[in-house]
Amino acid sequence: MEPAAFCSQPLAGPALRVRAPDRDSDTGAGAGEPQRGRLGADRLLDPTRLIRDPQSGRTYYRGRLLGKGGFARCYEVTDTCNGQVYAVKVIPQSRVAKPHQREKILQEIDLHRSLHHRHIVRFSHHFEDEGSIYIFLEYCSRKSLAHIWKARHTLLEPEVRYYLRQVIAGLRYLHQRGVLHRDLKLGNFFITENMELKLGDFGLAARLEPQDQRKKTICGTPNYLAPEVLLRQGHSPKSDVWSLGCVMYTLLCGNPPFEMADLKETYRCIKQVRYTLPANLSASARHLLDAILRPVPQDRPSLEEILQHEFFTKGYTPSQLPPCSCITVPDLTPPPNPVQSFFTKVTKSLFGCKHKSKIAPQEQDNLSRLVSDLMLSSICPQSNSKEPKQAQEEADGPPSLTETAPEERLPRSLPIMGSSCEGSEECLTAAALMESTLCALRNCLAFMPPAVQNPAPLASPEHLLWVSKWVDYSNKYGFGYQLSSRQVAVLFNDGIHMALSSNRKILHYNTTNTKHFSFPVEVVPQQLLGRLGVLRYFASYMDQNLMKGGDLPSLDEADGPAPLLLQWFKSDQALFLLLSDGTVQVNFYTDHTKVILSGWEPLLITYVAQDRRARTYKASDLQRLGCRPELRYRLGYVLRLLRQRSGT
Ligand code: ADP
Repeated sequence: MEPAAFCSQPLAGPALRVRAPDRDSDTGAGAGEPQRGRLGADRLLDPTRLIRDPQSGRTYYRGRLLGKGGFARCYEVTDTCNGQVYAVKVIPQSRVAKPHQREKILQEIDLHRSLHHRHIVRFSHHFEDEGSIYIFLEYCSRKSLAHIWKARHTLLEPEVRYYLRQVIAGLRYLHQRGVLHRDLKLGNFFITENMELKLGDFGLAARLEPQDQRKKTICGTPNYLAPEVLLRQGHSPKSDVWSLGCVMYTLLCGNPPFEMADLKETYRCIKQVRYTLPANLSASARHLLDAILRPVPQDRPSLEEILQHEFFTKGYTPSQLPPCSCITVPDLTPPPNPVQSFFTKVTKSLFGCKHKSKIAPQEQDNLSRLVSDLMLSSICPQSNSKEPKQAQEEADGPPSLTETAPEERLPRSLPIMGSSCEGSEECLTAAALMESTLCALRNCLAFMPPAVQNPAPLASPEHLLWVSKWVDYSNKYGFGYQLSSRQVAVLFNDGIHMALSSNRKILHYNTTNTKHFSFPVEVVPQQLLGRLGVLRYFASYMDQNLMKGGDLPSLDEADGPAPLLLQWFKSDQALFLLLSDGTVQVNFYTDHTKVILSGWEPLLITYVAQDRRARTYKASDLQRLGCRPELRYRLGYVLRLLRQRSGT
């Protein structure tokens, strides 16, 4: 049992007051479970669980135990300053008292901190005090593939492809950097809240040495050891490939390929490559396993060849798995291709007899290019879940399955962005709006006390105008979006803004924020027809393919023209939008959560959580009472984006 919470002053900083969370809180624990770091209502945090970085003075709160490893215990730990949650490996100094033990841990730290890849558990930082060494890692709330496998025993082939593609992406990165993992197993494939896989545990990892200098140590998990490792011929990238084959077999068949009651017998089977392939496996899975589990390392396929195998190329891989797949068989019927059906419909309307005469040849040309580009760039992959996900939020595609080193990706320092403010007047408007929001949010966060529960949301927030759908097509035309009032608009790359009223009868045309023209659609000037066509097809694309990004109610269109999108840009984690009424909206890509800051007196903060439910709070309430770490973290991120934009 963990010690019960009691009242006392923590080591540093103000007293930490917390409340008991809801039963259905995001960490999934019931109230009053001490082993999960749950505390009773309005008690102070237990100071014996505070961890203090002796150098920086930063304090962290140790939550529940996540698991025990060879050297370490791993805990869920929260930064008391900003609510950021980590998985922290705590290694008692007594366990690393001998120089070689300490050396080993320091080597693991050195290696891990140099790795930066989407499919590798992120190393944050580390420090030590008299009692322990603390290693702060990205928190993977759904534990590991071992936990999923325990609950499911076997996975469907599409699920196996989904996970293996991510393992391979991480492993390719490691191998490209000359690092061997040497302990690939289900327990080292960590799963994040949004079901992304991250390779972790570099305790046995080693730099790849030339053949003759390779260490001949036998290391790894017995069931997954390659024959050459058992025969002490050294570990190569192909030994990792062997373990990958064992992982694939285990996930598809329910048990490791060479598992025997007796370890000696297991080793004998590995050396002789003696295993059976169940009859219910697909032909391509059998063929790939047979190709990987070869006694001679050189005969095994490379990671690239594995991805080229028909098991991957012909079989369906979902872009996302539902969290329920951690415990039950998910429904993975491949979705119809939305881009394909959109193309068919648009082609019909463009080139079918009905509208043909109405469309000018140049416009037809523009539109058919738009359609074929949409096809090519597939900007809207849909998830396979029954309820289609917001496709606009998947514009970045499935978890970067073919991703390699981050440095090979598009330079993120130059975010993808757009703005209606080429003219200085517009820029000033945008800057002033952001500055005010920045000040309000900075104050809110600076004085916010730590808490584990959000304050009561407003019962019925007034008119909240927000961007409910979007399509980034800035590599050609611009950024299209739909407001919760159902108006659709495009901010073209040249700064022109065009919007269609919710009944699609009035066209609003803005050359700047203040120069505004409106026309009934029947009498739109000839010069604007091309853009109107593009706007209409953005609208129809969003109508047919995208779901609105949260459960906030739609509004009836107000009398006057709606606010315009002044600026948008994409950071590595989120899409940032600034509307001309001062609303700032930040959509997080991976978990589809959103933060919307709107209104001035009072400033309102709306949070659309992962379950798509939206709750609106007064910023002053959050400032006074605090909020859950997940919201606090996101508000901190929004603040960083605002700071970055306003250069402060
Ligand atoms: P071992 O290598 O022996 O599994 P670790 O110290 O790496 O030991 O991890 C111990 C346990 O802690 C793991 O089995 C896992 O359940 C949990 N764990 C480790 N890292 C993380 C993480 N990044 N996120 C969530 N849980 C983790």
